[in-house]
Amino acid sequence: MFSALFSHSAASTADFSHLEQASVEFRDVNKRYGDHQVLNDINLTITPGEVVAILGPSGSGKSTLIRLINQLENLSGGEILVDNKPTGRLSGNGLRQLRSRVGFVFQQFNLYAHLTASQNITLALEHVHGWKPRPAQERALTLLENVGMLEKAHHFPAELSGGQQQRVAIARALASSPQIILFDEPTSALDPEMIGEVLLVMKALAHSGITMIVVTHEMQFAREIADRIVFIDGGQILETAPPEQFFRQPSHPRAQRFLQKVL
Ligand code: ADP
Ligand code: MG
Repeated sequence: MFSALFSHSAASTADFSHLEQASVEFRDVNKRYGDHQVLNDINLTITPGEVVAILGPSGSGKSTLIRLINQLENLSGGEILVDNKPTGRLSGNGLRQLRSRVGFVFQQFNLYAHLTASQNITLALEHVHGWKPRPAQERALTLLENVGMLEKAHHFPAELSGGQQQRVAIARALASSPQIILFDEPTSALDPEMIGEVLLVMKALAHSGITMIVVTHEMQFAREIADRIVFIDGGQILETAPPEQFFRQPSHPRAQRFLQKVL
């Protein structure tokens, strides 16, 4: 159904096939802002290559949970292991290394407005990862082709639709060959007609082998692509289950109420 959206539909999915994967483990993770306990004793192990959808009401701690993984926020307690190694509190090179292994896609795309699509990708490759301009440019074009955006490589974000900008942001998140990719409501800022093209790219990624954690309100999408649903409310994981089980018969009353509202 979605493949007609791309002029290079085969290429748009094929090159996601060799992605690396790593585990993520939360051990007794707590997060507070001042007196406000936002995450409460989170224990969760995500296995290499697993696709996990994080569901829950607004304000339940979903964004905070995934932002802790690449240290966009700092822990208040507990630890997070990536690929079985505690990440600790990193800065400088260590933080750069962590972020090159863990890609992040934001709700609001966060592209640099003064850079073209391809420059948005080459910037980090050249200045953070030390690539030479020519290979960086080639890599950017390959990534843009993978997300069906090759024709727009030299356009600025303002010249792109929201769906196109988000596809560029996904290509950018993949530039450093991460083993884990995190999505924070990647389609929530999009007009309805653009959601499909972004979900299509994410679906291809989900099949690529990369470890993927997606905060989303797209229930049908979560049901289709996730290996596991993690339901969170009030800063706690209340239920984890395979999608079929979660959507057919959620066991926690709050998950039941949540589904009644959103389905
Ligand atoms: P969700 O993504 O599920 O909507 P968030 O993780 O964004 O939830 O937020 C969880 C809770 O933490 C909310 O009550 C929110 O107001 C609070 N919160 C988030 N970020 C901050 C911050 N930087 N400072 C203070 N409180 C915050
Ligand atoms: Mg959020």
